[in-house]
Amino acid sequence: MRRKLVAGNWKMHGLRAHMAEIEAIAAAAAAHPQVDVLLCVPATLIALAAEVADNLPIGAQDVHENDLGAHTGCVSAPMLLEAGAKVVIVGHSERRADQHETSHDAWAKAAAARRHGLGVILCCGETEAEHDAGRAERIVQSQIEKSLPDGAAPDWLTIAYEPRWAIGTGKTPTLEEIASMHAILRAKLRGMIGAAANDMRILYGGSVTGSNAASILALEDVDGALVGGASLTAAKFVPIIEAAA
Ligand code: 13P
Repeated sequence: MRRKLVAGNWKMHGLRAHMAEIEAIAAAAAAHPQVDVLLCVPATLIALAAEVADNLPIGAQDVHENDLGAHTGCVSAPMLLEAGAKVVIVGHSERRADQHETSHDAWAKAAAARRHGLGVILCCGETEAEHDAGRAERIVQSQIEKSLPDGAAPDWLTIAYEPRWAIGTGKTPTLEEIASMHAILRAKLRGMIGAAANDMRILYGGSVTGSNAASILALEDVDGALVGGASLTAAKFVPIIEAAA
């Protein structure tokens, strides 16, 4: 049985002033022990959030592939761990677009995180042009082929399918499209890691809200959600946790 995971990604949002939201989200997580909840905050907030919300795992949004070195502005896995992060997101489409990260970069970052015992959420997803051209399946499969880290296993790795055109747009694929892509991903993972794929969580991300979460989370191969905008306040995020419960 795969437990549902509801993960928030605060992206470049969050100051000390928002700690009350984290406390409220942590309280909701504690009230729904049948659901795993995770909050990925900006690097500057990890230590503070981890202290404030001791029952709620805190995650990071990026990691450098090296442990240390001359990489101005970057943060390594040992640094994230020391700050209190348990998990890190890699391969997010915003980093692919803004920082020109590739699937190979995601692979290297996931490997670095794994070396130090951090969990990983590995993202994949097609652009709108790729979707409209009927290439989504091939693109997503290729991203997984190139980025799935060595030793991929369900106890530390989670996959997130986030169609880029659904992120922050209020647009979502149809339930049939989501179900189909998650089944394709599960089959791809089976081909790469065998039966362990049956236990690996595959999250859906892209304009998940309290209104659409229940129907998306009810799909067979959808094991949770990766939530951006609707994770920024407890008022919007808690209904998604409730929908997963
Ligand atoms: P939104 O929920 O704001 O569409 O963002 C999804 C996302 O990118 C989570 O990583």
